[in-house]
Amino acid sequence: MKVNCPICSKAVVWSTDSEYRPFCSKKCQLIDLGEWAGEERKIATAAEPKTPATPMDIEEIEAMLSQQPDDFFKH
Ligand SMILES: [Zn+2]
Repeated sequence: MKVNCPICSKAVVWSTDSEYRPFCSKKCQLIDLGEWAGEERKIATAAEPKTPATPMDIEEIEAMLSQQPDDFFKH
């Protein structure tokens, strides 16, 4: 049985001798892992703008505390 390397499309014999199957070589396997890691980085970067709200959170907490009645702090 043969498969084609997903990176370079070279025919790879599917057997225990083909250590890097479905890739033809360690190089193609590493290229694939690198592309996968690149995707992970893209997702991480895209998620970053979702959490710039720390100054807002402090303002919200201060506003909340200032709205509490005085006896809230006495209990
Ligand atoms: Zn290859």
